[in-house]
Amino acid sequence: MEKYKAKLEEEMKLLEEELATLGKKDVETGDWEAVPESEEKSQDVEDEGDMADRAEDYEERSSALGVLEKRLDDVKKALAKIEEGKFGICEICGNAIEEERLNVNPSAKTCESDMEKVI
Ligand SMILES: [Zn+2]
Repeated sequence: MEKYKAKLEEEMKLLEEELATLGKKDVETGDWEAVPESEEKSQDVEDEGDMADRAEDYEERSSALGVLEKRLDDVKKALAKIEEGKFGICEICGNAIEEERLNVNPSAKTCESDMEKVI
């Protein structure tokens, strides 16, 4: 179990670092929000600095942020399960999740045969 915990903690760190490059964390809610590219950074791409591009860029950041945030959430849930002694148990059928599956993705919530039932 310790090796999964270490993996998950490592992944959590990486995800938070990645999130920090795209947005900022709301200290009150703990949610991440995309921030528009700073003036400082956008000086390199002066020609592309019109409003439409900026809006598009913001959209992209927001959706990338959403994906990362979801992954971070899964990682946190998996860590919580380790604390509760429920780690590695399929949320659908209640059987143990295959070890090789956990090695690839320690935040997996289901066994291999149930993975398509969860979105
Ligand atoms: Zn299952």
